[in-house]
Amino acid sequence: MIDLNKLVRENVKKLTPYSCARDDFKGKTGIFLDANENPYGNLNRYPDPYQKELKSAISKTKGIAEEKIFLGNGSDEIIDLCFRVFCNPGIDKVLTFTPTYGMYEVSASINDIEVRKIPLNSSFQIDLRKAESLFSDNKLKLIFICSPNNPTANSMNYHDVESIITKFNGIVVIDEAYIDFSEKPTFIRLIDKYSNLILMQTFSKAFGLAGVRVGMAFSNPVIVQYFNKLKPPYNISTINQKAALGKLGQIEQYKSQVFRIKKERERLSVILSKMSIVEKVYPSDANFLLVKVKNADYIYNALVNKSIIIRNRSSLIDNCLRITIGKKSENDMLVRALETLTR
Ligand SMILES: *Cc1c(COP(=O)(O)O)cnc(C)c1O
Repeated sequence: MIDLNKLVRENVKKLTPYSCARDDFKGKTGIFLDANENPYGNLNRYPDPYQKELKSAISKTKGIAEEKIFLGNGSDEIIDLCFRVFCNPGIDKVLTFTPTYGMYEVSASINDIEVRKIPLNSSFQIDLRKAESLFSDNKLKLIFICSPNNPTANSMNYHDVESIITKFNGIVVIDEAYIDFSEKPTFIRLIDKYSNLILMQTFSKAFGLAGVRVGMAFSNPVIVQYFNKLKPPYNISTINQKAALGKLGQIEQYKSQVFRIKKERERLSVILSKMSIVEKVYPSDANFLLVKVKNADYIYNALVNKSIIIRNRSSLIDNCLRITIGKKSENDMLVRALETLTR
């Protein structure tokens, strides 16, 4: 068993968190004259700092105990909290497998943390031998694993990931932002087995609430408590908590949207792979396709001129474009635009 307290920064262990009015009195009914709120209006009260109602609904949907759930202002806040709980600025390091989501590195830079990068192999999988060679460095505190990975669209091998969690004496953060679009199993059950695992999911993709900013972290209660200690007290607004709660009450809508997106992904993948400008469409466990083309910059700009915006990822993977799966009508317009380029 890993001693989590040894991994946490000294100042974080010692600090006394801000105690808000809603910490002192937790009841729901009464005459509230404790938080200097305006007594008039609908949104005049501060939100629940621990989002109990929302967590209870997430707990039921995911089958994870409430005390193992943390909610952030998007996954981005959770990524930042991982750095702030475990990494001493200017001293510690983290590991990523590239190409991957850009926020890990941005957050590392903000927190003055060095990023070690190991490139994914030719099948976009983790090179375990190279990764393990870094495990003896006691300044290495976090490993980020994005699965399904953005922008490569594939999932990491289950056994490789579990092997990293068991062999690494620091914290492993698995980012499952795209898991709803994948046929592969989630790693979420591993949080009960390993105390050094933090698993992230989000309301931004399959739940269709990117504008709402609610990210989920599933971990053990010790880590959840450290996150609670460092987060701004009211990190998720009342409006945002309600929006996320509302979505969890519309699971049929969520399922049908995920179904349609996956169906469109397969359709678009087949069409694109037959085009002469396309070299390869990579298999996808996500709601986007990574597509290798002959001239990515040219295609990207030609599409922008037709008001179709995709993501040019050539700087990360040679001549690769990342195309988000849209509605059928939108995907059809993309296909037609690409067809005119081939002529
Ligand atoms: C889109 C995305 C997220 C979502 O971030 P939020 O802050 O929750 O919107 C997280 N991780 C990856 C890899 C993503 O691509």
